[in-house]
Amino acid sequence: MIAAAIIAAGGGGKRFGSETPKQFLQLAGKPVFLWSVEAFSSLKVFKTIIVSVPSDMLDSLSKKYKKMSKIKWVCGGKERFDSIKNALKLIDDKIDFVAVHDAARPLINKSDIERVLSQAKLSRAAIAVEKTKDTIKAVKNGRIIKTLDRKVLWNAQTPQIFEKNLLLKAYSKTIPNATTDDSQLIERLKIKPSIVESNFPNFKITTKADFNLAQGLLKCL
Ligand code: C5P
Repeated sequence: MIAAAIIAAGGGGKRFGSETPKQFLQLAGKPVFLWSVEAFSSLKVFKTIIVSVPSDMLDSLSKKYKKMSKIKWVCGGKERFDSIKNALKLIDDKIDFVAVHDAARPLINKSDIERVLSQAKLSRAAIAVEKTKDTIKAVKNGRIIKTLDRKVLWNAQTPQIFEKNLLLKAYSKTIPNATTDDSQLIERLKIKPSIVESNFPNFKITTKADFNLAQGLLKCL
């Protein structure tokens, strides 16, 4: 069984508010995206790591990291799903499973990757999750219209790992613009991905506070 990982690093990081996209900032001694690349490439089962990056950074990054032989670089797209779609074009026939991971989740831990992969082998599709801690409200025009049942709510994270052919099928369909993860495209095929609760912090860096927290945690390793 062999696998490939796609690291989505093609975003402009507008919400974060820095000139350099957040995934390329130095975090505890190395660029944010490299933490994830190294976590996946250290696992033997991942033969290829495809990194989607902004088009204007493709040449410089591929030159800078040319010694990392597992990495293939690809241009990101307008939306996250466009970046994944571009990366899927580089998946070769021999690959059985594809993991998709956000570069903005640098805390990803090797054992959690392995746990999601083991579950994906059993059920074709599995994603890392965290139990929703807060009470979640649906809001319209500044007013609460519904309180959701917390018992059934989980925060979707990455990695999300799928049988290759399943993911290719999901991406061959028209993709709704509101798509924010890969699991929802698999769900549209009437497949129910399994969840695997992360054992370690695996939050996405969205704000400066997230960045500082991730830096503090990684410096303690
Ligand atoms: O914007 P957000 O933080 O939700 O993005 C999640 C991940 O998807 C990030 O690592 C980001 O770089 C990536 N992304 C991408 N291509 C885009 C937008 C986001 O690869 N067009």
